[in-house]
Amino acid sequence: MMTIPVNEPVITPEAKKYVNDALDTGWISSAGKYIGEFEKAFASYAGVQNGIATMNGTAALHLALVTVGVGHGDEVIVPNFTMIATAAAVLYTGATPVFVDAEPETFNIDVKKIEGKITKKTKAIMPVHIYGHSCDMDPILALAEKHDLFVIEDAAEAHGATYKGKKCGSMGDMGCFSFYGNKIVTTGEGGMVVTDDAALAGRARSLADLAHSVKKRFWHEELGFNYRMTNLQAAVGLGQMQQIDKFVAKKKWMAAEYEKRLKDVKELRLPITKPYAENVYWMYGVLVEKDFPMSKDAFRAALKEKGVDTRDFFYSTASQPLLKHLPSAKEKFPVSDMLAEHGMYLPSGLALTEKQIAYVCDTILSVA
Ligand SMILES: *Cc1c(COP(=O)(O)O)cnc(C)c1O
Repeated sequence: MMTIPVNEPVITPEAKKYVNDALDTGWISSAGKYIGEFEKAFASYAGVQNGIATMNGTAALHLALVTVGVGHGDEVIVPNFTMIATAAAVLYTGATPVFVDAEPETFNIDVKKIEGKITKKTKAIMPVHIYGHSCDMDPILALAEKHDLFVIEDAAEAHGATYKGKKCGSMGDMGCFSFYGNKIVTTGEGGMVVTDDAALAGRARSLADLAHSVKKRFWHEELGFNYRMTNLQAAVGLGQMQQIDKFVAKKKWMAAEYEKRLKDVKELRLPITKPYAENVYWMYGVLVEKDFPMSKDAFRAALKEKGVDTRDFFYSTASQPLLKHLPSAKEKFPVSDMLAEHGMYLPSGLALTEKQIAYVCDTILSVA
């Protein structure tokens, strides 16, 4: 029997080399050459001018919101189907998240339902490119233009993904990435805000470093944060960037292998890719539909028994005890509820081998 974790990262030889260099030379905090080099390499990969590295992706989201001026009394439109960091970042600013249900095919924010949620208080929209599939950005950008809103992309799951040829994270006013251990580029923990707007970039850089006055260091006119990334994290990140094209190709290969082997399993819905998107399959998510021979829980338990680790999809954000008091959480989110009930993802790590995929699929075929 094999044991296959849901995620296992691949660490490049360059990451080890650079992090050892950072340790050997004593540049272990947030000064050191790897930070600038990683910011430049990643921003350029994401198709934007500026990158501001942060200690994690959640901090990147908060930083971007504060940078564009979101605060108390404002509303920010977020998808209901995402992980908690998206709404948490809004709450940190004192603003209120307003939830929009998912679209059933891509699991992304349903763009048809956004405009109805815009009020005089709305300040920004935060689309999240779920599991590496781009949101339908043109209608979102058009709404933002029409109602004078900022667009902050949560691209934490979408390194390298594109929308009509444009990189996820490069289309809004600011884009946010995570480099957590299971993300396509990892620094252990880490994040980055990217933007083409030099003024926003400068403001984000200052706010991430306690907002020292430009005229006088250790003099503060506004409230900043210590959200800095360390040189050690950046050294790992720069090393991981050496193989980013390989990593993205690996994710697509993984999806193709799963699809080839699972396409005939009835009532197991495989991921769909829209013509506008280049999907990077951060996680290979499937829906265990109503007429599947067993419940999702029984299916996951049967796989676990054979050594195959899986995960449930996100819970509906509006259903979280933390958030259910919010006015917008009182609405119905039937698609998010359906996804939470039927969705799960298969092992999707960068270290996955063909033998492991074959084993996962054979196991599925034997229990289904
Ligand atoms: C991973 C993730 C984040 C948060 O990133 P951290 O680096 O773990 O703080 C935010 N949003 C989404 C959609 C994510 O998947």
